This record gives sequence, C-alpha cells and structure tokens, in this order.
Amino acid sequence: MNRKSFGATLALALIFALCSYVRAEDAAKTEQGELKMVACPPECGFSCTSRNENELVEALKAHAKAYHNMTLTDDQAKRMIKPVDTPAKAKDEKKG
Ligand SMILES: [Zn+2]
Repeated sequence: MNRKSFGATLALALIFALCSYVRAEDAAKTEQGELKMVACPPECGFSCTSRNENELVEALKAHAKAYHNMTLTDDQAKRMIKPVDTPAKAKDEKKG
C-alpha cells in the first residue's frame, strides 16, 4: 500500500466522520434551514447530507481532492449542493 492510497483512505474516513458528526449535531439541534446534499455521479457514489452548507462544501472538497484529484473552490462546491426533498417532514415532525 502506497502513501497516496493511504491518504485517500484517511480522507474518506475523515469525510464520513464529518458527515456523521454533522448529522448527530443536527439531530440534537432543532431544525434550522433545509436539508441539503452533495453527490458525485453514480459511478462514484459519494454523497453527503447536512443542513450545514459549509460542512458539505468541506466534505465535497476533501472528497474531490482525494478521489478525483480535483481541487474545487468553495464556489464550485456550493454549486453542487442541492436541496433534499423530505416528504416525511410534513408528517411526524412535531412531538408534544
Ligand atoms: Zn466522487
């Protein structure tokens, strides 16, 4: 295993850690802003979901660099962010 693939693996671990951290934090908070996501084409399969746009930008940039050898600007990363439709939201959102 060479250093480069180790670095990519590490970056992936970091991205997933970041995503799950954001999700956990989101769950603790009350909902602020709409849920958003970034996703690579299906042949890559990467996706990340958060209400925090900055976290998505960072995750996407880290992924693009590690997996696609691309350096995205914040602006480019932001343009890949899409709103997530949450049909379940209308239903059991309120408790008490
Ligand atoms: Zn990708």
